Amino acid sequence: MPRPIEALIHVEALAHNLARARAATPDSRVWAVVKANAYGHGIERAFDGLRGADGFALLDLAEAERVRALGWRGPILLLEGCFEARDLELCSRLNLWHAVHCSEQIDWLAAHKTHQPHRVFLKMNSGMNRLGFTPTAFRAAWARLDALPQVDEISLMTHFADADTEHGTDRAVAAFEAATHDLPGERSLSNSAAILRHRLRNDWVRAGIVCYGSAPDFPAHDIRHWNLQPTMTLRSRLIGTQQLQPGETVGYGSTFTAREPMRIGIVACGYADGYPRHAGTDTPVLVDGVRTGTVGRVSMDMLAVDLTPVPQARLGSEVTLWGRGPGGTVLAIDDVARAAGTIGYELMCALAPRVPVSVEGA
Ligand SMILES: *Cc1c(COP(=O)(O)O)cnc(C)c1O
Repeated sequence: MPRPIEALIHVEALAHNLARARAATPDSRVWAVVKANAYGHGIERAFDGLRGADGFALLDLAEAERVRALGWRGPILLLEGCFEARDLELCSRLNLWHAVHCSEQIDWLAAHKTHQPHRVFLKMNSGMNRLGFTPTAFRAAWARLDALPQVDEISLMTHFADADTEHGTDRAVAAFEAATHDLPGERSLSNSAAILRHRLRNDWVRAGIVCYGSAPDFPAHDIRHWNLQPTMTLRSRLIGTQQLQPGETVGYGSTFTAREPMRIGIVACGYADGYPRHAGTDTPVLVDGVRTGTVGRVSMDMLAVDLTPVPQARLGSEVTLWGRGPGGTVLAIDDVARAAGTIGYELMCALAPRVPVSVEGA
């Protein structure tokens, strides 16, 4: 028998969450963001749940090829554009729309031979200071693109640094508006936090994490508040139990000491499966659908859980590390991420290749 750990991808939940993004910005077209292999879900596995989107946004040419190979003929956007000049050939061949965020990318376009002019998304740096033209440089970049025969339509985009924080989007939106108000073209501004929290409407919103059942602004709001469903379950089983006496410790470094007699369970899941090693004692976990907590340090292949609230638990009992548990129980990935000092995005993206994944509801 293989190790009892597995991950499940919930196709109907992906569709449900995408519909939530749509409902929050009803006049916008929605990019389903499937970068990082659909946030760790697998592009091919997630595709059925997300095919109701108006387009797919991603980073990597190989991922764009995979989306085309699934039969998708609609829009695909490269969120960071091309990484070198020859990437433009594949953009032409696969009819990919691409971001343009720096003058070198315009140089490459100007030198590119194509019969089919490209649709580009000119990116403004509205304060994040990662990619994009500053508001002052933006218009000159637009004019350069507008003069190129290789360019068909120019859309305008920016990415918010603070859509999920109390700083909000007002300043970035104002900077964007000031520099673009008299330029033609469709707009794409919102990420998940802007979609849900600010209900910012623009022609193309970019729905990433909202699709994958994690709250973009956790802990201010959780998935219950936004009516999102987990799309990835990581589950395993108890492969051992131990009875501890007061003063006995658990795991490497003996970081947990029992205060009273207690029973613990050993779970076939560790950091080599993508479970965060930084999750300390009391990280939430479900055993047979009952919420309890981890004890001691997470090791490569195992972790330990407190069985006090689940006296009936025994070898083989089901353990939900995140996602859906038995009997309709749910453990939000955000709760686990918080206990490990990170965000749901990182945990789902880090699901390890050794975990077998199956698709539910396909
Ligand atoms: C990843 C990404 C998104 C999606 O962000 P979420 O917070 O997951 O919705 C949107 N736009 C750009 C440019 C991105 O890189």
